[in-house]
Amino acid sequence: MPSRFSIQDYVPDYSEEDCAGALFAAKWPDGFRCPRCAHPQYYKLSSRGRQYECKSCAHQTSLTAGTVLEGTRTPLTKWFQAMFLMQIGISAKLLAELIQVTYKTAWLINHKLRHAIGEWDRERPLAGDLQLLAEYYGYEYHRYFGSAFVQGGLRPQPVVVGVSLDGAADVSHVKMKAVDGPEGDHPAVRGGTDGEESVERFVHLHVAGGEASGHVEPLQRGHHGRAAAHHAWLEVMRWLARTFGGIGPKHLQAYLNEFCFRRISRKEALTELIASCGSTKTVTYRGLVGARSGIRPIKWVFRHPARIQQHTG
Ligand SMILES: [Zn+2]
Repeated sequence: MPSRFSIQDYVPDYSEEDCAGALFAAKWPDGFRCPRCAHPQYYKLSSRGRQYECKSCAHQTSLTAGTVLEGTRTPLTKWFQAMFLMQIGISAKLLAELIQVTYKTAWLINHKLRHAIGEWDRERPLAGDLQLLAEYYGYEYHRYFGSAFVQGGLRPQPVVVGVSLDGAADVSHVKMKAVDGPEGDHPAVRGGTDGEESVERFVHLHVAGGEASGHVEPLQRGHHGRAAAHHAWLEVMRWLARTFGGIGPKHLQAYLNEFCFRRISRKEALTELIASCGSTKTVTYRGLVGARSGIRPIKWVFRHPARIQQHTG
């Protein structure tokens, strides 16, 4: 993570017009379509380019309607700066400072972007040769950074890491999913191979066709593993620990998705994120803090939540 001064210089200076153009292209990749009558021609109603009227039926529509940005009062430039910064993966606190919005706005923007990433992820199942690793989140982080007291109250969250390998054994896709399972009630064992049930469920839900079609390599958990899935898991734990001071169970899945998105899309991350934001319906604050769709209920709880210092992502 660069220092806050250098990262400040790094935030791009977009114009509202350029952002509107990019969102337009993401929302209507084949050109404008009236949402009511599908007519392809429109009048621009506002100088800021966020309101359109259909030339055929006079239906008025907003550029952000039906996108992740729907209903926002935040300038598009700040949204696009947030999308840019998601290529790095920063906390809401730092985002608020960098794009000059309140912490709550920054938190919401980051989570709405993660919501779009969740859709991106859902449309891309794993395929081909697979590495599968049943891991626990919480255990390693607290073992290195937490007090003995905190460790005593740990209920690790089972997570399955799946990696797709292409013909040349290069990583072509990574997914990490928090899974509900009985394993979460027991302390994690290093080098253990339990978690078969979670892995089976993971394959059913996140591999194309619901079953592995290529070679499957089940991996042992632990820090000394050298497989791509081990590396990815170590990387995500470092990121969560350093950037957020660890993540609670409620939003863990959204952060895992964000990490995998970055890991896979790399140089295309910004383009992919803009496209995904333009084609994903938004989610409300309530939708975010209430039951998150597509995420299994997580049993994992700290015994003494009030005594644990948790930063909010
Ligand atoms: Zn129309």
